[in-house]
Order: sequence, then structure tokens, then C-alpha cells
Amino acid sequence: MHNFAFSRATSPADALARHAATPNATFIAGGTNLVDRMKSAIEAPAAVVDISRLEFRNIERLPGGSWRIGGLATNTAVADHPELRKEYPLLARAILSGASQQIRNVATVGGNLLQRTRCSYFTDPAFACNKRVPGSGCPAMTGFQRSHAIFGASDSCIAVHPSDMCVALAALDATVEVLGPKGERKIGFDEFHRLPGASPDRDTLLEPGEIITGVVLPPMPGAKTGVYLKLRDRASYSFALVSVASVLEISGGKIRAARVALGGVAHKPWRAGDAEKFLVGKSPTEAVFKQAADLAVRDAKPLPGNAFKVELARRAVKRGLTVSAAGGGVA
Ligand code: SF4
Repeated sequence: MHNFAFSRATSPADALARHAATPNATFIAGGTNLVDRMKSAIEAPAAVVDISRLEFRNIERLPGGSWRIGGLATNTAVADHPELRKEYPLLARAILSGASQQIRNVATVGGNLLQRTRCSYFTDPAFACNKRVPGSGCPAMTGFQRSHAIFGASDSCIAVHPSDMCVALAALDATVEVLGPKGERKIGFDEFHRLPGASPDRDTLLEPGEIITGVVLPPMPGAKTGVYLKLRDRASYSFALVSVASVLEISGGKIRAARVALGGVAHKPWRAGDAEKFLVGKSPTEAVFKQAADLAVRDAKPLPGNAFKVELARRAVKRGLTVSAAGGGVA
């Protein structure tokens, strides 16, 4: 690992000032992904500013019924929160399907949003990679593609976002709260992560020096029946080949609202908007869920190495919706 300056911020303003004082500085909280990247020599910040002691840890209900989860709340604190588990059970299921207990105990919500792809070419500096070194090339285009994108990829990058929690947050219509040199702002979850386009080195809309201070979940009665289904090569400590977060609100025998987000298939959590629109007003039947699943994968553009993901995603969406309609639980 190369040498870097380390300091600990004592307040949000102090964190911003310390970050601004050194070019190529970065923030650290749980460090569960950043330290790996630094040890693998794929990232070499000149300064690391520790924000882990700042105040953004609270999980609180807001007036109107929303929940605000601090950006420094640990994954375990969110997954174990009794009221969040009751109101948004798919969020806990998504979190608990990822990493290990030890990692979840220190990994933060903000860090989860900012974790970077585990594309094997990105994580090995012996290979070229447009995301790591812009303009250097993308060996995945003709190489190992099993875990790569079937939606929203570009000629520059076909990587996927690795988070489970973010797929649930996308389905839950979360908002990301940010503090930076220009003040505070809010970013809708669907806009927060970006598609690779011609600049895959940029994962999110976060500007340099900005900190994720929190994530807000709107009230969503249907979320009680929400489902997170993760399909992967082995049963634990493995990233999703395909995952689905689904929420259905059903009353009077009709679907009143539907949310479907896919993970492991794109550079960002992928909302299946056409499937969601199709579902509203329909009866929750197997035939309807099959049509919704077909719509969810209609625009997929698989590669030779990951064509199997299209059928996997189709079946996962149908399964997720079926379990949601039956009241939720483990899919
Ligand atoms: Fe790099 Fe993206 Fe290509 Fe992977 S898919 S090698 S992250 S440019």
C-alpha cells in the first residue's frame, strides 16, 4: 500500500475542510471496500479523512411517516432495526443477503451506496480498465462476462453495481441526502447511480468532497409484503448474478401500485418501469406476473457470456411478484 495522510474529522465542517485541503483526498467510514481497493493498488488517495465519528448514525421516523437512516448507520443497525424490519422487510433481507456479519457490523449505509464494481478486471491492476484508467480499454468486452450487465451498458464498460441494499432502496423510492462544499442537496435514488456511458470512471452523481449524510424512505404500506430475491453462484458471501426487489400494493383484488428493481444486471439498480406500469390495475394472477416478467427483460442486451441472465431475471421477477402477492416473506 502506498503512503497517505490520515486524519479524523471532528465535525461535518471539519470533514469538508480536511477533504478540500488535499487534492485526491477521500473519505473513509467503515472502509470495507475502500481499504480493499487501496490494498489492491487500484486506488491511491493522497489523504484519507475519517468521518466514522460524525453524527450521521441515527435512524429516526420523520413527521409524515418517512424514515431517515443516517449515512453512517451500519448495515447491521439497519437490518436489525425492529420497526424498519416491520415496515420495509425487504431492506433487511437485502442487507442480510450480502457480505458477512463482521463486514455488516462496520460497513455503513453511505459506503454501501458508494461501493465499486467487483468486475474482476477492475479489481486487478494488471488489466486495462476504462473505469479505473479512462481510455485504457475494457477487456471484459471480449473476456469474462458472466457477472456483467444486460441492461444499460456502453461501449466503454459493461460492469454491474454490486450492492444488494441499493436494489431494495431503489424499489423503495429512497432519496439520498448529501452535504458538500456547496451545501446540502437531495438526490432521488434512481438518479444517484449513473450508467457508464463514455465515462464509466464515475459511478454516481456525487461531486468531489460530498458526504452522504442520510437516506430517506417514504411511507409505503405495500412494502410490508416486499420481497428481495438473490440468485448467485453460492449460497453466501457472493454477489448477485441477478436479484429482484419487488413491492406490490393490492386492494379489492387489484394491484394498486408496483415496484420492481433488479440487481446484478446493470451499472446501477435497474428499475423495471414498464413492468411496474403494466401491473397497476391488473389482478395479481400468474399470467399477469409472467407478462410483467417478460416486460422486465424485454430490453435486455445480453452478451455471449451472460445470456443466461435474461431467463434468470425473467423467472426471478415472476417469483418475486408471486411471493409479494402472497404476503411477502422469503422468496
Ligand atoms: Fe473495467 Fe467496466 Fe470493462 Fe470491467 S466492464 S473491465 S469495470 S471498463
